[in-house]
Amino acid sequence: MIPVSFDYEVAESAEHAVELLGRHGDEAKLLAGGHSLLPLMKLRLAAPAVLIDLGRVDELRYVRDAGDHIAIGAMTRHHDVNTNDLLKEQCGILAFTAGLVGDPQVRHRGTIGGSLAHADPASDLPAVLLALEGELVAQGPDGERTIAAADFFQDYLTTALNEGEVLKEIRVPKLGSGTGWSYQKFNHRAMDWATVGVAAVVERSNGSIGSARVAFTNMGSTPIRASAAEQALSGASPEGIAEAASSADEGTSPASDIMASAEYRRHLARVLTRRAVEEALSR
Ligand SMILES: Cc1cc2nc3c(=O)[nH]c(=O)nc-3n(C[C@H](O)[C@H](O)[C@H](O)COP(=O)(O)OP(=O)(O)OC[C@H]3O[C@@H](n4cnc5c(N)ncnc54)[C@H](O)[C@@H]3O)c2cc1C
Repeated sequence: MIPVSFDYEVAESAEHAVELLGRHGDEAKLLAGGHSLLPLMKLRLAAPAVLIDLGRVDELRYVRDAGDHIAIGAMTRHHDVNTNDLLKEQCGILAFTAGLVGDPQVRHRGTIGGSLAHADPASDLPAVLLALEGELVAQGPDGERTIAAADFFQDYLTTALNEGEVLKEIRVPKLGSGTGWSYQKFNHRAMDWATVGVAAVVERSNGSIGSARVAFTNMGSTPIRASAAEQALSGASPEGIAEAASSADEGTSPASDIMASAEYRRHLARVLTRRAVEEALSR
């Protein structure tokens, strides 16, 4: 339970972090809340030679109204996302789901940027960002670039961030009054990771579904959109939701582990999709 020894650098700003990454190359890892990286290091599944601590980069800790979207600094902690009034009002699904991450200790240390950059398919926030069709802003030696959430999660624990890039900001849309949402998390104990999670963002149209965006937690090696269910749900009446959700697990490849078999996860995906869309339509 003791990590391999490493050097420690303190970043003073996002630019400084990029500079330090450039200096140390692939030997270095950024440290945000440490709640995913440090356990991996203690288990010796990760052994970076240098840790670059973002903990003092206060410029990456904010939630701002940016006109047509809300901008969230990557170092904003789960607790601050969960309790932020602007997010609660304009993008309730993100604030709500941040409150389901782990336990209070995890939420007071872990950050939204760390969670997304870590890209664990069992984490709750990546699926929410996919369903929101959010964007991520990365800063590298050549400046900033914006990456759509759909392009960000590439494989297990693998993102579109290049070596030498820092995730700076997360952008989410403001959800208008015609948009409902829900995040359904199934876990064994209150503070556990999701066995399966379903994020739904639904555009209402005369009491029916105009369109639905649905994304899964822990149904494959990355968070994924439930494309089959989305198609079936488009234009569906409330009575048609159960039928549309019955195909929700199509195109997924869940794992079997001590928490659930793959077949049980598929069952959960169908049931939770129905619950999520029903709740989103009525919210
Ligand atoms: C007991 C426990 C229970 C948990 N339960 C849940 C849960 O139910 N749901 C859930 O979603 N999560 C859960 N988590 C994970 C938690 O949300 C972590 O906080 C999160 O996954 C990682 O965020 P962090 O800030 O701690 O990142 P760190 O652990 O510091 O970093 C994680 C990875 O991201 C990289 N990174 C961090 N910041 C940046 C950045 N700005 N730019 C580029 N790369 C970056 C790091 O180099 C590292 O590779 C749990 C963790 C623990 C310890």
